[in-house]
Amino acid sequence: MERTLSIIKPDGVAKNVIGEVIKRFETNGIKIAAMKMIHLTKTQAQGFYAVHKERPFYDSLTDFMTSGPIVVMVLEGKDVIAKNRKIMGATNFEEAEAGTIRKDYATNIEKNVVHGSDASETAAFEIKYFFNALEIQNK
Ligand code: GDP
Repeated sequence: MERTLSIIKPDGVAKNVIGEVIKRFETNGIKIAAMKMIHLTKTQAQGFYAVHKERPFYDSLTDFMTSGPIVVMVLEGKDVIAKNRKIMGATNFEEAEAGTIRKDYATNIEKNVVHGSDASETAAFEIKYFFNALEIQNK
């Protein structure tokens, strides 16, 4: 049993694919243990993506992430970190496999619809960034 953080980014919310993204998680047997819609401030986006602060796209990425509301979720299941990454597809949608969320809905390398934690340490940090223990279901 594992947990990961998923975000439907502002482009995904604007494209009305919240339901489509969630459907892909549910049909793949992934449980949603927490969920909310929020609109990040620049400072909050910078904190979340602090690991990328030396990258040339950091300012553009954090502007994009504050451009509209996002949906943040805690996903739960067996090997859910890797499973979610597979359902999302490669960062660059042009390299993503057919049938992945990014292949189907991304616009460019930045506006790629979804975020998903890439390892158990990042999942722990990212889940705590958005949710406290009382907000996550324990079934
Ligand atoms: P992820 O784990 O697949 O989301 O990819 P990364 O952790 O490498 O990058 C984080 C996010 O930064 C990506 O999902 C994109 O939204 C954005 N990003 C990554 N590479 C680039 C790039 O070369 N240019 C721009 N503008 N954004 C990028």
